[in-house]
Amino acid sequence: MTVRVAVVGGGVTGLTAAYTLRRELGADAVIDVFEADHRPGGLLCTREVGAARLDVGAEAFIVRRPEALALVRELGLGDLVVSPGPLRPALWSGGRLHPLPVPAVMGIPGSAAVLGDLVDDADRTLIDDEPTRSLDWTPGAPVSVGALVRDRFGDAAVARSVDPMLGGVYSALADDLGVAETMPALAKALDAGAPSLTAAVGSLTAASAAVSGPVFGTLRGGYRTLTNALVRASDARMLADSPVTGVRTVPGGYAVESPTGSGEGEYGAVVVAVPPWHAADVLDTAALETAAILGRVRPAGSAVVGCVLAPGAAMPEQSGILVATDAGMRSKAVTLSTRKWPHLAESGPPTLRVSFGRLGEPVTVDDQTLVSWAVDDLAEYFGAAGLPAPTIDDVVVQRWPEGLPHYAPGHLAAMTDAQRALPEGVALAGAAFDGVGVPACIGSARRAAARVVAYLTAE
Ligand SMILES: Cc1cc2nc3c(=O)[nH]c(=O)nc-3n(C[C@H](O)[C@H](O)[C@H](O)COP(=O)(O)OP(=O)(O)OC[C@H]3O[C@@H](n4cnc5c(N)ncnc54)[C@H](O)[C@@H]3O)c2cc1C
Repeated sequence: MTVRVAVVGGGVTGLTAAYTLRRELGADAVIDVFEADHRPGGLLCTREVGAARLDVGAEAFIVRRPEALALVRELGLGDLVVSPGPLRPALWSGGRLHPLPVPAVMGIPGSAAVLGDLVDDADRTLIDDEPTRSLDWTPGAPVSVGALVRDRFGDAAVARSVDPMLGGVYSALADDLGVAETMPALAKALDAGAPSLTAAVGSLTAASAAVSGPVFGTLRGGYRTLTNALVRASDARMLADSPVTGVRTVPGGYAVESPTGSGEGEYGAVVVAVPPWHAADVLDTAALETAAILGRVRPAGSAVVGCVLAPGAAMPEQSGILVATDAGMRSKAVTLSTRKWPHLAESGPPTLRVSFGRLGEPVTVDDQTLVSWAVDDLAEYFGAAGLPAPTIDDVVVQRWPEGLPHYAPGHLAAMTDAQRALPEGVALAGAAFDGVGVPACIGSARRAAARVVAYLTAE
């Protein structure tokens, strides 16, 4: 009998799951990808803006984790992987650009010295004396990054170093994010008995200093290169504009329901690769307990203003700018794309991205207002670097109102419970389960596909 698998969600997770299923189940399997939007890719989105091509969602991947690099090589795209140039991001605080604190773990500094004049003398003493104060850490306890770092290093270190880093990656701030969720290696060091936060951070920065080579990579042509290759290699039926409203148990498998009717039918197994709040709706009949847990995860939205500057326009000598949360700015970060990525500078006009919004601070203003905020903030950042306000030739606003799942303290334990309560033949994957980065999503897609294959081939 023909094996039939439904994949719900056509972001990088769903596409990777479909591709992996094709490889494992062979050419005869029917693999249908249901995607609510008119295009696959989800938060991977490459757009033409004037004379430039911009990634307006994710724009890079960590190459020190194996999953993304292994996948692009497997797809024959290895030669298209490029590295960032040598420039580093700056930190905006107190109306000035500062060097990014290094060494640090997600902005948690290895010492007071690395914060330079981002903090005052009282904070410097607090941080320097931290190893002498006893540390109250309970292994496994759900602690927020804010609670930990405020207690040990003070408020300024959080607002001017930790929040800018976390805000960029998780679209949420330190007080809302769990230590074990966002910095598992740090939590592990503390669980293992590190006597202080300084000691735990020091052990991690020493370990990462011993690893050479770039941390990030991206693909020539943008993330569209990857999504197109996955669509092709999965040889799946791509059902665009087909939101799934429910999955029901039927004899021998699952019925997938979509109001458009396309692809509706019965499948031997289902991979659900949509954000958890949508997965909760999809699974509220077939997996009630799982759905209840997933439904409690909140979305952390954001928006990106992509700008193409006049040819030859000068930009600060940085790869980007992270903004302190007590700096009174509206933007949270700027990626100076053609500074960060030399391959983009070779082939197109100067481009940059200005990012806004985070958990609890949704971007609700209209596009015109958002662009004017970007222009105002850029004038300040460029001015501080001794440059004129940039002339913007073309602009695009990309909103991600749902964006990323909120990695609250205790989130990962809840996701483990959600997975455990799944019926056989249903797998969950995506940014909620093992980290929000693209490599983590790819890893989770591979595991979901493996679970489904094991189930389908068990007899
Ligand atoms: C602005 C921004 C920048 C980022 N930058 C980076 C970066 O540089 N590097 C990095 O590694 N990560 C980055 N990330 C994170 C990364 O992009 C995401 O975690 C990852 O792309 C999520 O992929 P996914 O497939 O799990 O989910 P999504 O991309 O959200 O895809 C889910 C898909 O499911 C569809 N869907 C939803 N509901 C239904 C339904 N009921 N039926 C059918 N389909 C449905 C959606 O339309 C969507 O296409 C960034 C995220 C954001 C928001």
